[in-house]
Amino acid sequence: MSSSIKALDSTSVHRITSGQVVVDLQTAVKELVENSLDAGATSIEVRFKEYGLKAIEVIDNGSGIAPEDYESIALKHHTSKLSAFSDLATIQSFGFRGEALSSLCALSQGVSVTTATSNEAPVGTILEMERNGKLKAGSKKVARQRGTTVAVTGIFSPLPVRRKELYRNIKREFSKALALLTAYALVPCSQDGRGVRFTVVNYNEKGQRMVQIQSNGAKSIKSSVSAVWGPKALANLEVLDLEFDVTSEKSLMKRVPESEEVTHVHVEGLISKFTFGCGRTGTDRQFFYINGRPCNLPKVQKIFNEVYRSFNTNQAPFIIANIIIPTNTCDVNVSPDKRTVFLHSEYNLIAALKISLEEAFSPERSTFSVNTQ
Ligand code: ADP
Ligand code: MG
Repeated sequence: MSSSIKALDSTSVHRITSGQVVVDLQTAVKELVENSLDAGATSIEVRFKEYGLKAIEVIDNGSGIAPEDYESIALKHHTSKLSAFSDLATIQSFGFRGEALSSLCALSQGVSVTTATSNEAPVGTILEMERNGKLKAGSKKVARQRGTTVAVTGIFSPLPVRRKELYRNIKREFSKALALLTAYALVPCSQDGRGVRFTVVNYNEKGQRMVQIQSNGAKSIKSSVSAVWGPKALANLEVLDLEFDVTSEKSLMKRVPESEEVTHVHVEGLISKFTFGCGRTGTDRQFFYINGRPCNLPKVQKIFNEVYRSFNTNQAPFIIANIIIPTNTCDVNVSPDKRTVFLHSEYNLIAALKISLEEAFSPERSTFSVNTQ
């Protein structure tokens, strides 16, 4: 009798695993933007065509891709950022799994990459990708300054159910993508602290261009907030600047050497004055980062809101909080989208954060100039 357990064909495996890397519109855009940040870009333009249904294009002025790398750009698990598992403990780049472009190829109608390094500029090369991530034969030349443009058309067309869902919920999916892009535009996310100028535009069915987000590439969070929402947005915000030490939970600290049992934590950002709040009840203007990487930190978010609510019961604060900790005390390789982060000694960190926040909010020992009228 023939065996009933058989290997899936490689095309099916590729499509199945890709569907977990690029789950929705926002992860697609996020992967492209992170590639531009990793390439050292100081200017990034994201162009949605018909809210991303027709096309998503990310144009950067980063390093570009060298001709010898063209063949492997979109091959699965091919990356220029990580060469061994051990590097993960110190990884600074956003990407490291080498899955994004290969997944986008598997999940869209077409992917093209136009790129030039400083050696080739002002001549760029247009590369078209096959669904399996291989280069299509015959590239074209075009005028291009240093940098890379990645264009993804017809996202999810090979997955009819997901494409239909995206079509049905496009406005909601588009605003989720904008919220995520706002997070990148607010805090200089680059490891070297350089500012990045973000422009996000949408072209509607008639080809009309609408600017959605515009930042100014400033290094300071304050200045970015002012660029994104206007100077008025700063009026009711206070600078958040907390520093505290966290002692390690020993059993959980396998990756941290004994000598580093105390971790220094710095939290920088902006928060609503607790007497003013942001006048909202929702938490849509709360942005959290670990070392400049936007991520979901539900427990940290909960503590911020709890402490805030103990001073102001009816409003949810506006929060931008970038938690700066040694890279070897957090693990970003938890989910393919890297939005979930494991923090070593999380319990102690949250407890210390709570105390530090309460102290900062407390009018007697305030580090904020809180207006109590
Ligand atoms: P990862 O980011 O995990 O390395 P990706 O699939 O996102 O994997 O990208 C594959 C490779 O393509 C990257 O490692 C990088 O070398 C190159 N690349 C992708 N986008 C860009 C870009 N905008 N600028 C320069 N290089 C890029
Ligand atoms: Mg990447």
